[in-house]
Amino acid sequence: MEIISATYIKSSPDYGQCPKADRPEYAFIGRSNVGKSSLINMLCNKKALAKTSAAPGKTQLINHFEIISATRDKSGKQEKRPWYLVDLPGYGYAKVSQKQRKSWSAMIEKYILKRENLITLFVLIDSRHEPQLIDLEFINQLGAWSIPFALVFTKADKNKPGATIRNVDAFLNKLRETWEALPPHFITSAIDKNGREEVLEYVGKLNAT
Ligand code: GDP
Repeated sequence: MEIISATYIKSSPDYGQCPKADRPEYAFIGRSNVGKSSLINMLCNKKALAKTSAAPGKTQLINHFEIISATRDKSGKQEKRPWYLVDLPGYGYAKVSQKQRKSWSAMIEKYILKRENLITLFVLIDSRHEPQLIDLEFINQLGAWSIPFALVFTKADKNKPGATIRNVDAFLNKLRETWEALPPHFITSAIDKNGREEVLEYVGKLNAT
């Protein structure tokens, strides 16, 4: 799948202000500093589409980008398709108040449970770390809600050889303790663009069904 264009549409303080749900939507979420903005920019081939880390405590917004992508059909004809890519506010800021944490949870819960065009959620995990409770808790909550999601292990270029696979395996093994089937997972780097094709192909496949 090729990205033809990626355009910022709007930032919404709440589910109710999101653009009309008239096309498939894919949202990205993860702990603050996980590399979400860098991944979105890498996927879209645009340097500053998503802004890198907003200061904690700032208004937390749901950011919509319109993507036009193209795939080739069997005869080689190009088929264009519009979809939304959504940058969701991250979790796990050390410095936010209890009140801000609660308002984040309420906003995210409403968006995830109500947004009818949301096809899947990409949950980003920093591949440099051993499994973190905050990520596991968020994923288990998605399971309780029956929300489809995929895992994206970021910053793979930062690891010594072998460390990425070790951390990914440790994470998946943690999930195996409670999950019957594992979600799809991708390993990415915003620096060397690894994983870009795989994530985009996955979106293309879901868009085609
Ligand atoms: P966000 O807060 O999740 O949006 O994270 P950012 O995209 O702002 O990234 C946080 C920091 O990690 C920045 O300093 C990025 O340059 C760095 N970073 C993000 N992705 C990668 C990556 O794939 N490789 C490397 N080496 N650094 C990354």
